[in-house]
Amino acid sequence: MSFLELNRLSKTYADGTEAVKGIDWRCEEGEFVVLLGPSGCGKTTTLRMIAGLEAPTGGQIKVAGADVSAMSPAARDVGFVFQFYALYPHLTVRDNIAFPLESMEDVPRQRRERVAEILSRLRLEALADRYPPQLSGGDQQRVALARAMVRRPRLYLMDEPLGTLDADLRLEMREWIRARQLEMGVTTIYVTHDQEEAMSLADQVVVMDEGRIRQSGSPAEVYDRPADLFVAHFVGSPAMNLIEGEVDGEGKDCRFTPSAGGWDVPLPRPLRGGRTVLGVRPEFVRPAFPGLLEARVLTEEYLGFCRNVYLDTGSGRLTMQVGGSGSYRRGEEVSLGFDLRHIRCFDADTGEGL
Ligand code: ATP
Repeated sequence: MSFLELNRLSKTYADGTEAVKGIDWRCEEGEFVVLLGPSGCGKTTTLRMIAGLEAPTGGQIKVAGADVSAMSPAARDVGFVFQFYALYPHLTVRDNIAFPLESMEDVPRQRRERVAEILSRLRLEALADRYPPQLSGGDQQRVALARAMVRRPRLYLMDEPLGTLDADLRLEMREWIRARQLEMGVTTIYVTHDQEEAMSLADQVVVMDEGRIRQSGSPAEVYDRPADLFVAHFVGSPAMNLIEGEVDGEGKDCRFTPSAGGWDVPLPRPLRGGRTVLGVRPEFVRPAFPGLLEARVLTEEYLGFCRNVYLDTGSGRLTMQVGGSGSYRRGEEVSLGFDLRHIRCFDADTGEGL
């Protein structure tokens, strides 16, 4: 038995939109799970069903073995934060944060200490006696997080909780959320479309698309072994290079040739022949002497710790990510190789990883 289970969970809205199409998924107690996917893929709907704010039209949600599908949000004992979270406007910051503790057995002194500690940790002390309408959007969002994480419910549910914050604060709050979650040990489901946020926070990433789960696994599993072409393209920035072609030859002589011809590459593992898409991440494309193929530099993006080089191979474009201090000029010819241990192949018809 897992701590949280979704069994054939689905949601069709009254207008016929099938937002979630019968998903099966589970996680263990204390896990930090991130639902990741493009806009409209059903992340928020899934989270709202777990929270009890949206009724499923099919399937079941179980927490610690008990079916909670028909329970009210309050009875589910969850702490949530949404992107535009409504604080109580007539309560001060301090009282908003203390509010979830009101019904708890803590004596008032303990309650005051917990609120003071979280105000200090989130550097909200100077704002403690203000009212929400007197705060900036970012400050309101931090108060909402503090309010959700001041106590220990069975689940934390968060929908893009850092969406309104600027870049510096986003990083700081990301670190704080993770540290707080580990300290409290509360199973957390976190929705984002920001893959860097997903990779940095998650024990388990669940990649969704069009109401279905494409893949779930650790950030490294999803990044290194994408289950299909959707995940391969969606996870990773710049995106994985995906090259259409054919596999032929047997055993050790198995090779991939792109549809446009011009070069070929031996495959590290034998594969069945036929139409195949070869995937190689930009960091595994390298200058090589001798190389597999020749390409011409289109543009270069300098990012400080690395540079992204966009290349024209004559039979399609490739992206290469390299460190070091060298620089590439537009029009320069480069001889390229791939790190063969890191190439992935996908069935060109079904998109499935091979
Ligand atoms: P975003 O990242 O943009 O919030 P999402 O992945 O969270 O997207 P959902 O908000 O769950 O996606 O929406 C899934 C689908 O359901 C979308 O097509 C959306 O338009 C639709 N949808 C959401 N709420 C409703 C509703 N109340 N009535 C009808 N359709 C809805």
